[in-house]
Amino acid sequence: MRYFSTRDTRQEWPVTLDAALSAGLAADGGLYVPERLPQLGIADFQGCLSLPEVAERLLTPFFAGSSLAPKLGEICREALDLPVPMVEIEAGRSWLLELFHGPTAAFKDFAARFLAACLARLRTRDDPLRTVLVATSGDTGGAVAAAFHRRPGFQVVILYPDGRVSARQAHQLGAFGDNVHAFKVDGSFDDCQRVIKQLLGDRQLASRYALTSANSISLGRLLPQMAYYAYAALKLGRDRGPGTGNPGEQRVAPTLIIPTGNLGNALAAVLVREMGLPLGEVHFATNANPTLSEFFGGGDYRGRPSIATLANAMDVGDPSNFERLAWFFRNQDLRASGIHAHRVDDARIRARIAEGERDYGQIWCPHTACAVEIMATLRQQGDKSPMLLVATAHPAKFDDVVEPLIGHAVDVPPALAALLARPAEVETLPATAEALTERLQQGWI
Ligand SMILES: *Cc1c(COP(=O)(O)O)cnc(C)c1O
Repeated sequence: MRYFSTRDTRQEWPVTLDAALSAGLAADGGLYVPERLPQLGIADFQGCLSLPEVAERLLTPFFAGSSLAPKLGEICREALDLPVPMVEIEAGRSWLLELFHGPTAAFKDFAARFLAACLARLRTRDDPLRTVLVATSGDTGGAVAAAFHRRPGFQVVILYPDGRVSARQAHQLGAFGDNVHAFKVDGSFDDCQRVIKQLLGDRQLASRYALTSANSISLGRLLPQMAYYAYAALKLGRDRGPGTGNPGEQRVAPTLIIPTGNLGNALAAVLVREMGLPLGEVHFATNANPTLSEFFGGGDYRGRPSIATLANAMDVGDPSNFERLAWFFRNQDLRASGIHAHRVDDARIRARIAEGERDYGQIWCPHTACAVEIMATLRQQGDKSPMLLVATAHPAKFDDVVEPLIGHAVDVPPALAALLARPAEVETLPATAEALTERLQQGWI
């Protein structure tokens, strides 16, 4: 399989998967995409029951010709062997796919661990120390840190917006130490991302420090995120049985509702559907940031600065992966492709969390609450389809928002508790490329 930049419209500059994984962003500023989407059906997954097995089958065509192809099974088993429970929240018709059972209690663990497992195997003995740069709105940084922590040959530099992540997220980011360096930046997530893009775009600097990015623009994060949607689609198909077989009976593929910010996770779901697996309409659940709902509501795409909300990991005003989504649908009308977007403001997030235990026996993080809110709205409008919602983070990560609303403490999962028990060390950094360059040059002892 060959890969192209989204901006290489005439497809003149193919790269290998290995190069695309290593580079993160394409040299022309675009995002890497596969030359085509392989087509697969349920029958192709016979005997694949676990997430690593489904992932290996799904990703094999994407790894064709890569030096990593013979190791794909091993990579999937190392990185993706995490629990993925599907919790029924409406009898027989809605399920919550819980993606927060990894080491940092958010879905980003899957992708970060997969990317790290790939990059570690692409490394040769004489390679210089690689610097993985990551801008985070809260969860990516922790996941990438956990995935690369103490991996020989790598250091991680995390930038996060000061005051815009939860206290526990901030602690988690600073709690790794060793080869992980955390910086709180005086600015927004967009500022963090801009600084990192500037460094990556500086040819000399990028080669001197062997810079790479681990943001959701990285192909190495998009690919593994597809795996749990395939897994969920196949499992729901099996669990719901073959149907009665009555003529006229149609098994409706589940509608997906996905908390969305930078559009990495939700794009993965769209791609799995486009590859041929049984998934239905896809709804992006955003917070108050209006860019996507405006576009899918018929307006123009207009990127803008982000608005700070309770669902802070989705505080994105100009989702990077929109460019990729548009590329995949370049010959079709994106707005007529079974994709929808809805905003949920902070008041509705609060109400949904506060009523979660009473209505569904569940406690949700603010991001997951957006998805549940959209489900409730669709039900009110008469949508009777089976629905698969994505739970993106454990509520204990957002205790400062959640606990006052539900009136009691949230149990902290053991992996998160272990991180929170460690001391945290974070440096302050101005939001400029010069400041970060200078800090890189100083090095660490
Ligand atoms: C990152 C994140 C999101 C948004 O995911 P995208 O891939 O950026 O759309 C949603 N919820 C949580 C908890 C996150 O950490």
